[in-house]
Formats: sequence, structure tokens, C-alpha cells
Amino acid sequence: MSFVIHGIGVSSGIAIGHAQLMAHAAFEVPHYDVSKSQIEAEVARFDRAMDETHTELQSLIENLPVNAPPEYAAFVQLHLMILNDPTLAEEPRVRIREQHCNAEWALKQQMDMLVAEFEAIEDAYLRERRADVEQVVERVLKGLMGRAGLQPRPGAGETILIAHDLAPSDVVHFKQQRFEAFLTDVGGVTSHTAILARSLNVPAVVSLRHARELIHDRDLLIVDGSLGAVIVNPDREVLAEYRLRASELQIERRKLARLRTSPAKTFDGTPIELHANIELPGDMEQVQASGATGIGLFRSEFLFLDRNGLPTEEEQFVAYRQVAEEIRGQPVIIRTLDLGADKQLTGLTHEGDNPALGLRAVRLCLAEPQLFRTQLRAILRAAQFGDVRLLIPMLSGVGEMRQVFAAIEDAKASLRRDGLPCRDDIPVGGMIEVPATAIMLRPFLDALDFVSVGTNDLIQYTLAIDRTDGAVSHLYDPTHPAILQLVASVIKAGARVGKPVALCGEMAGEVRLTRLLLGLGLREFSMHPANVPAVKQRVLQTDLREAETLARRILASTDPDKVQTLLERLNG
Ligand code: PEP
Ligand code: MG
Repeated sequence: MSFVIHGIGVSSGIAIGHAQLMAHAAFEVPHYDVSKSQIEAEVARFDRAMDETHTELQSLIENLPVNAPPEYAAFVQLHLMILNDPTLAEEPRVRIREQHCNAEWALKQQMDMLVAEFEAIEDAYLRERRADVEQVVERVLKGLMGRAGLQPRPGAGETILIAHDLAPSDVVHFKQQRFEAFLTDVGGVTSHTAILARSLNVPAVVSLRHARELIHDRDLLIVDGSLGAVIVNPDREVLAEYRLRASELQIERRKLARLRTSPAKTFDGTPIELHANIELPGDMEQVQASGATGIGLFRSEFLFLDRNGLPTEEEQFVAYRQVAEEIRGQPVIIRTLDLGADKQLTGLTHEGDNPALGLRAVRLCLAEPQLFRTQLRAILRAAQFGDVRLLIPMLSGVGEMRQVFAAIEDAKASLRRDGLPCRDDIPVGGMIEVPATAIMLRPFLDALDFVSVGTNDLIQYTLAIDRTDGAVSHLYDPTHPAILQLVASVIKAGARVGKPVALCGEMAGEVRLTRLLLGLGLREFSMHPANVPAVKQRVLQTDLREAETLARRILASTDPDKVQTLLERLNG
């Protein structure tokens, strides 16, 4: 039977393929009976996974970067202790033998029992160790189940992945796997998972709520990313119509790609910078194909995800230098680590009750000076190989900015002591993502070389909307009058003192907002490479004077309906 389910489309395009259901997080484990003759083989499988986890944790300790925070080693040691404890190492073996069940199920049952015991403990410290038990079990389960669910089934043809949720680290992993589309039951419109799906250039729909219950493995699906719709088991006519639309979209993309080498300037000749946002050096191929004239945002924290242990200074240096060299003299703006919130790193970040308001981004870096120094050293060294600039995320106070400057000086001094060459006069910019910073911009503009407006977070914090929560995604509105006023005020303040202002949130890649942003005075946009051609086409078709007039009227309005009407007129 054919039916349609709706969610929030976060990456447009059309995909047609067969469903592949991914287990719900690590703890959704299969449960099956194991025949008597296979019991010992199942125990051996459990032992193997435990041994592998042991080796993995041991190697984490042995390969700790010299400058890793001291808590990190203690944390891994604790996980080794938990792993070796008979309650985890022995009890599941007893369960397999007694209940004739599979290893995953035995381990999961044992974990549930331990977690229940932890919950009854009054001591808050000990109670919190529950999360450590869960993390250790998750590691073993990964060993038992493998990453089999995280790659398309061999020979299955076009595959569409359906998950409860995806962590940003999972999506980084998908940069090497080819899925035709992603569907998740939860998630918000500018969560990093959604952003990554866009960067993979495949359709994605989040917040589908019950996709994993309604869709069966191998069902035929059509994903319409623009409508946020999934058609399950479509009939022949619908399938034929979507096949036609998909090929039309392809033709459209090819046409847009021809703009690659045309300079981006408005109808009246004003030059506009269209830069690219990247997560990993491997994204450079897409950047080159897009015609972007620089990297406006390198989300460097992705070098830290989907791996064991922290990348060393050398590894980071090589990655930054590669990007600087491949972009051939054009700017590369490397954002220092923005971990925390929805990008967690076991042992380094802690989720807290409210991770988006917690120890995130520059706050985490200042709390972990060794970690920060390693990254700054790597960037300063790579800066000799191109036009590299530093960008500091989530600045919320002048004091923080001063600490960052001190950390940069400290990193330079340490490089000098080590006799390693580095760039002394690297430009330093700040992200404007916290409303307080946008409101009190002057001291930041005075001290920094440039600023970049991170509207994904600026909207989250100004409108009090969790960007990862699908339930409030409908309130996530870049054209909210308060947002437009904040963005406009930052652009104007920068122009007044002659400091460049860029915008690198998802707004920058939305074609329906291009003219509005141009009209507000924005001249530097940074977006996913895939969006560059369409935004460039819109720039080429924009009369700046007209855009300024309508943008002024939009800015003067506090009525959302009027804003939409004027926006339509601007785009007409
Ligand atoms: C932003 O907040 O707009 C931004 C570009 O940074 P991120 O999406 O990585 O938080
Ligand atoms: Mg941000």
C-alpha cells in the first residue's frame, strides 16, 4: 500500500531508493534465541568483543597526545576498570548460557540492571557513573554489531537510510558512504546533523516521528527533500513523475554549474564574496567544483569526531595546510573548536542539563588550555602556507576575547621556543552568535580583524529555540523581525568602522534570502559549496538599489505577514 509521511525537509532534492533501517542508537539491540550447540560460540563472540574493546581503550591510553587534558586519561582508565569488572565481564556470559540468548541481549540486560542499581544510589557522584557504564557498554555493542548498519547493504542499489537520530559523527562517517537520502524521526532544521546532510548534497527529511515504525526495511521510497515528504511504496504513475522531476533537477544543476567561473557581482557590478563552509579537507573537491572563492568557515571540530583519541598537533597541521594549499591563495577561515552542544566527544565534553548553554566552543577551549594550544599551534604553523585566518566561535564577553588573544600569544611563544616557524600576524575574527555580542558589538569590532555572523546559533539563542529539537522547528525563523534587526545592526556597525562582516549560518545559502541580505549591506556570504551556484545566479540577477529599498521596508516592519509579502516582492 502506498502512503505519504511528512517531516521537515532539511536538504532539498529528490531521491528514489530502498529503505535501510538503522538500529535505534547503540542500545536498540536484537534479541534472538541461540541453539544449544551454538551457546559456546556465542560466549566466544562476547569474549572477542570484550577483548577488542579492551585493546581499543588500552590503545587510547597509550596514544594519548602529550598535551591531552589530564582528565582524559583518568576517564579512559575508569572505563577500563568498568569493562574489567565481573558484573560486565562475567555476568553476561552466565546470561547467555542460562537464557540461551544472543550476546548483545545478555549485555544489554546486564546494563539495564546495573543502571537501575545506580539510579537508586544517593551519592550524586556515584549516580553519575551510570553514564560511564552506558558508554562502555555502547563500545562493546558497537564491536558486537559492527558498523554494519552504517553503510549501504552491498548490492542493494540505491539506498535510503532511516534512523531514529544521527549524531554529527555518524554523518561524518557517511562522507565515505553513498546513501541516496537520510530520514530521521527526530531532529531540528539547523542541527549539525541536518547541516551535514546538506553538505553531503543528498535530500534529507528530519522529525518524521514514526518513520521507523511505518517503513519496513527494503520498502521502495521517494524522498522529496523540498517538501519534507516521503512517499512509501509509490504507485507506477507517481514513480514515473518523480523520475522525470529528478532528471529535470539534474539538468538544472548542470546549467547552474556553468556559472562556476563567472565572478559573483550584482547587476550593477558590486562584487560579492561567495565562500564555502567545510567540515573536512576532503570537502575541497566539492569546493573547487562550486566556484566558491575561499573557505568562510572550516568547522575544525569535525577532525575530532568519528575517531578514537584526539588528533595530534601534526595531524591538525597537515589538515589545515592541505586546505590552505588547495585553495591557492584564497582565504581560509578556520574556526577553532566548537565542541559541546550537539557535537559531543566522549571524555572531553560533558552534556550537562543544557548543553547548548553549557561548556561549548570557546568556553570549552578556555577551560582546556592544552587542547586549545595544540589547535592554535597547528593553525599558526599552517598559516604560512596560505591566507589563513582564525575565527573564534560563541564569544559572549570581552573578557573571553582577551583570554583568546593571550592564548594565541602563548601559542606563538611556545612555537618560537620550539624553533617552529609560524605566522605572526594572523587575522583573528569572532563569530557573532550570542545576542549579547551582537548587541554590544563595538569592543569586539575594535579588537577583532573581522566578524562572521553565525545565524544558526544567533537565531537559537535570540528566539530561545533549541536548533536540534524538531518540535520547535516551526518557530525557527530567520526572517523574524528581531533576527533581521540584529543581523542588519551587525552589518551596519561593521561598515561604520570599516571591519569586514560575513555571514556563515545556513541563511547565507538560502536563495530566497540572498537579495534581502544584499539589501541589508552584506557582501560576504559563506555556505555549503552545493548552494554557491544558485546563490551566485541570484546575485547576478539582483539590482542592489531595488534590494536596498525593499530591505529597508522589511526591516521597518514588525508584522511577520508583511515581511513575507515584501520578501516575495523582493524575490519576484
Ligand atoms: C552558526 O551558528 O550559524 C554557525 C555557522 O556555526 P554552527 O552551525 O557550526 O554552530
Ligand atoms: Mg554556531
